[in-house]
Amino acid sequence: CGIVGYVGPNDTVDVLINGLRRLEYRGYDSAGIAVVDEAGDLTVRKRSGKLARLEELLSESPVGEGHTGIGHTRWATHGGPTDANAHPHLGDNGKLALIHNGIVENFAELRAELEAAGVTLESETDTEVVAGILGREFARLGDLEAAFRAVVPRLHGTFTLLATHRDEPGKIVAARHHSPLVVGLGDGENFLGSDVAAFVSFTRRAVAVNEDNIAIITPDGVRVTDFAGAPVEYREFEVEWDA
Ligand code: GLU
Repeated sequence: CGIVGYVGPNDTVDVLINGLRRLEYRGYDSAGIAVVDEAGDLTVRKRSGKLARLEELLSESPVGEGHTGIGHTRWATHGGPTDANAHPHLGDNGKLALIHNGIVENFAELRAELEAAGVTLESETDTEVVAGILGREFARLGDLEAAFRAVVPRLHGTFTLLATHRDEPGKIVAARHHSPLVVGLGDGENFLGSDVAAFVSFTRRAVAVNEDNIAIITPDGVRVTDFAGAPVEYREFEVEWDA
């Protein structure tokens, strides 16, 4: 439902929670974040219920300081609003985290493929199946962007997807198909959001990612390609916002 991503020098948890707070107006039933910390560990904290419950969890079990992170507020479509079904979902044996807005129609077929490969799933969501498939492609190809190009054309339905992998810290890869995605441009930091509210506290410079494109952000760069990997030119716009 609500999506935020951050790569940069500031405290990632603060940036993600700020973004999720700004996205609360959309409504949601669960919230979660994944952060790659300085030790290179990928940590997920997620909970059903209000953002305040996620913040409670974060104060009970803090995550180490990190500079790459993704955050999600969920509006359940596949599987009830439980802690296990909240996003992010993991793939590649816990090394990859994925968040998703939308619905993956062919999740049953993809789930059968994972089960046949011996992958255990921990939720009832369509999203975790994508995390599993993407994780397997990462293991095969060793590159998150290449893994996206392999997986995204296989998904039927609607999606904005953001993923980060422990072995590629400082990078988030995102894709969209019939679901919105915007990039926020910072100075030595960059953002992703389901809408500009996700990052408007930090930057007013934005790029609307077009349908069927992939966006790759690092602290010092943004690239956009089509699903085949061909570079796409993008135009920056100024966000108008009365805070
Ligand atoms: N279909 C996904 C789920 O039920 C994503 C829902 C959303 O857009 O928040 O977990």
